[in-house]
Amino acid sequence: MDAPELVLANARVQTMDPLRPLARSVGLVGGRIAVVSDRAVPAGPRWRGVPQFDCGGRTLLPGFIDPHCHLLAYARSLTTLDVGPSRVRSIAQLQAAVADAAQALPEGAWVKGRGYDEFQLAEGRHPTRLELDAVSPHHPVRLEHRSGHAHLLNSAALARAAALLEQGDPVDGLIDRDPASGEPTGLLFGMHRQLAGIVPAWDADEADRALDCAEHALLSFGVTCVHDTSPGNGLKRLEMFRRRRASVRVAMALGWDAFEEIGEGWQSLCRSDGAVPVLGVKLTIHEVTGRLNPSLPELRERVLRIHSAGAQVLMHAVEPAAIEAACAAVEFAQRRLPRADHRHRIEHASVCPPALAGRVAAAGITVVAQPTFIEASGERYLATVAPCDIGHLVPLATFLRCGVHVAASSDAPVASPDPLIGLRAAVTRLSRQGAPVAPHQAIAPVDALGLFTRQAARAMRAEDERGTLRAGASADLVLLSSNPLDGLQRDLRVDLTLVGGEMVYTRN
Ligand SMILES: [Zn+2]
Repeated sequence: MDAPELVLANARVQTMDPLRPLARSVGLVGGRIAVVSDRAVPAGPRWRGVPQFDCGGRTLLPGFIDPHCHLLAYARSLTTLDVGPSRVRSIAQLQAAVADAAQALPEGAWVKGRGYDEFQLAEGRHPTRLELDAVSPHHPVRLEHRSGHAHLLNSAALARAAALLEQGDPVDGLIDRDPASGEPTGLLFGMHRQLAGIVPAWDADEADRALDCAEHALLSFGVTCVHDTSPGNGLKRLEMFRRRRASVRVAMALGWDAFEEIGEGWQSLCRSDGAVPVLGVKLTIHEVTGRLNPSLPELRERVLRIHSAGAQVLMHAVEPAAIEAACAAVEFAQRRLPRADHRHRIEHASVCPPALAGRVAAAGITVVAQPTFIEASGERYLATVAPCDIGHLVPLATFLRCGVHVAASSDAPVASPDPLIGLRAAVTRLSRQGAPVAPHQAIAPVDALGLFTRQAARAMRAEDERGTLRAGASADLVLLSSNPLDGLQRDLRVDLTLVGGEMVYTRN
């Protein structure tokens, strides 16, 4: 059934539409915006008698859009033991958290935690398996690093992974070993895939419950639409999301394996206008010991195949060598088969000097950046990023100056999906502890807001549907307690979120 008619009256409407940035009320019909008006209530007999919600002068914006996140992993992060920096600041605190969790579980059950960050621990190092053994000798423990790219296991967990360890380092991972004894320290880099066979997966009910929590959290942050860009996404996960009918709008990129497997069926998969559209194919470009994986010829081949299928390529590329490769691959595909408005993307582009940003712009590539990382990882960046690179870190000002289409995302659960944190970081360039990180890359609040709305919609090829408030667009809106363009006060809050004209979150 269509959502009821509703007038959002007496608001400061920030439409994010450059042609008409401001208005005072919005009329909704059938899940869509029917009118955006300069009057406190839309004029004309059409709106007489339609229920009104008085916004009391608060700021109405398009619902925030997160064009790069990992929904299942975020859901998992909300329902597994939190050993992240907001909870745990030392190895002793981490041990206490693991001990409590183990005590609550039957012997032999897995303690699964996530979010530890050795950089934010007082000791400044990874904990060891022995430190976990001391508090959990009988429960296998697996703690996922905040980056998602490393795991720490205790001895009971390593014992279950014995067969895996005997095979030695895989091509895409590393088993950390004590230099003296050669024994595994418990720290495994990469090896996500391999560990999946050892740590028991969730059952469907657990996953469902966790996704409920995740969706509620997103709506409370004013996020109305997300793009799940997990490289492991395949048909099974797509089916799960399509069955689920989430309260947040979800689109998916699938991984390369799924793209190959689907082959000829790709076009019909994308055309089927199910609840969860498929928007593209995710490729990960890593630089390991000075070599690119996949190699440039292989990357070009993959990008050309995805490009030829008419799909969007999403290339995870963090550092300049990977970004150059991503550009080269898109340039190659465009020479072979020119496509106007291809919408291919680079995910992250975390270190990108101006000349390279110029190349990204010239290739028509959209960058999906993560300003929230400045807040969450600023201290780490300042301590570990080379001085010659730090000025080009999450270079939003450079991107805008060079004419790159740039959108912002959270990459949750790597960072919080709260767009207000990212918005603040894009404008202030301050880390969580208040240290400036490449402050010359700060951008204006209105531009920052655009990255989370209009530009994020464009990155998902959905700018006709959402990201700005204008007649015909989906009635996905967020009401904020004050106007972010007047200053990003710490007490700025999401008061109300609507998806398809339905009030799906109200702050009490
Ligand atoms: Zn990601």
